Amino acid sequence: MNLWINEAQTKDLELRARVRETLFMGKSDYQEIAVVDSEQFGRMLVLDGVFQTSVADEFIYHEMIVHIPLFAHPSPKKVLVIGGGDGGTIREVVRHECVEKVEMVEIDGLVVDACKKFLPEISEAIIHNHPKLELKIGDGISYMKEAENKYDIIIVDCSDPIGPGKGLFTPDFYSNVYKALKEDGLFVQQTESPFYHQELITYVNKEIRQLFPITKLYLASIPTYPSGLHCFTIGSKKYDPIQTNSENVQELITRYYNNEIHKSSFVLPSFVQELLK
Ligand code: SAM
Repeated sequence: MNLWINEAQTKDLELRARVRETLFMGKSDYQEIAVVDSEQFGRMLVLDGVFQTSVADEFIYHEMIVHIPLFAHPSPKKVLVIGGGDGGTIREVVRHECVEKVEMVEIDGLVVDACKKFLPEISEAIIHNHPKLELKIGDGISYMKEAENKYDIIIVDCSDPIGPGKGLFTPDFYSNVYKALKEDGLFVQQTESPFYHQELITYVNKEIRQLFPITKLYLASIPTYPSGLHCFTIGSKKYDPIQTNSENVQELITRYYNNEIHKSSFVLPSFVQELLK
């Protein structure tokens, strides 16, 4: 068998994975959804031709988008996740004992259903209807407009800034995020590759800096994402996210995140520092 799946990572570059089996293909009101089993990365979720997550390396992204902000806050009780339909972010959030409630607003119910069926190890907190979880199928952009002074942490676990995710990278959305956070809250957003999405990173950083007194970028190595180096941007009202907070110490078994990684992921190569000037 010689079946491959390609992701156009830039207009001049593709990442190609050999497919063992196509497990699901569907089309929702928002996007084309596929789950394939690949030789290299195992099962993968693909939305509109873009690799979203794979069972081989999802732990890196999900641990890093969750444990950095949650350990930076002394006692996060209320968390909101925008997007994150595969469930990996929720799975990591509910592991924090101090979290009382996590709301997740995902626009596409078909992504959630496909992941529950074909990526159960990622989706486990959704499958088991975790008692801390309140799952809403809806648009995170409109949802943010209503909330005020409500959350300790907001995690924007979105797809690329195209299609339904486009409005999650706008000044209006960021001011609604600011308004929805408590006075010492912080938020994080995945912000793509420092090699291929330099304008986006500079733009997001600039917009967030205008609202939040503390804006920081951190990095993780994620093989299935463009260039393998991925950025996350944090806007914080009070806490410096480089510090882990002593009130929230809890031993978690993790495969990528640890105390040293928490600090070192904020150490940026010079070319990335340049993007933030
Ligand atoms: N880890 C992934 C990455 O960086 O590629 C993101 C994965 S997660 C599957 C992204 C989710 O964001 C998708 O399921 C998509 O449906 C959802 N999404 C996109 N726009 C959204 C919006 N406006 N409101 C809520 N969810 C949205």
